[in-house]
Amino acid sequence: MQDLEGGEDLVDCGIYGYVPFEACRFFQDSVNNAGHAARSSTRFEQAASRLYKARGDLGARSQFSKPCIAGLAKIRSDLDPWGIVAGSYDIRIEDGSQSTKTIRDAWGGSALGNAAQFQANQTLPEEWFKFGIIAPGYQMNVQDYFIVNRGVTAYTPIGGNTIYIDAGRLTIGDAGRNQALIMHETIHNAFGIDDCRIMEAIFGPQQCSLPKGSTERRENRPSADFTTWLLDNCVNGPGNY
Ligand SMILES: [Zn+2]
Repeated sequence: MQDLEGGEDLVDCGIYGYVPFEACRFFQDSVNNAGHAARSSTRFEQAASRLYKARGDLGARSQFSKPCIAGLAKIRSDLDPWGIVAGSYDIRIEDGSQSTKTIRDAWGGSALGNAAQFQANQTLPEEWFKFGIIAPGYQMNVQDYFIVNRGVTAYTPIGGNTIYIDAGRLTIGDAGRNQALIMHETIHNAFGIDDCRIMEAIFGPQQCSLPKGSTERRENRPSADFTTWLLDNCVNGPGNY
């Protein structure tokens, strides 16, 4: 530790010298992301190829169970598994840990995208501004989104055609679950339905609440629960072939 004029504690950050703790963490995260991608672009390629394979498996399905069909119709009356299969053909998988696309652009520049960008910008850490890592007016990008939201494995802008993944976080070993994931993300992409609407249709009311000072409702339980629901009802179990 070393003192700065303003009394700010500095930490030894290796090649970056003595910098504030948060700045050091940001540098290391960025390098980890970049290094991680360089070391394991194969890992992303592998994850992407497994997800494309899962999309193929989904396209080859001949039957979906009654609970699957009934559950999806509760989300929206025009939502059915065959529509999801058709919608999944447009989907692309990209490396979110490497994408410098702004949130707005990731959403295809729509009005919804402007709102998403505004919301995302509110979550940029104050320290990044304070230590000059980013300047006022900075627009959050997809890579930042993964740095800030450490639990996020896949990010799917509503109404877009891309699933951004962090292959270092996403578990892709289970072919059935991959198929369920493709279904989940296609419902966002091709049908423009968000997690709150899905979760409340499937798991009952009050799955989401509005954080203070936000205009966007957030889920009270992990949206991965819906992927598990799809796995149990639309991929595995009787009536699914
Ligand atoms: Zn979701």
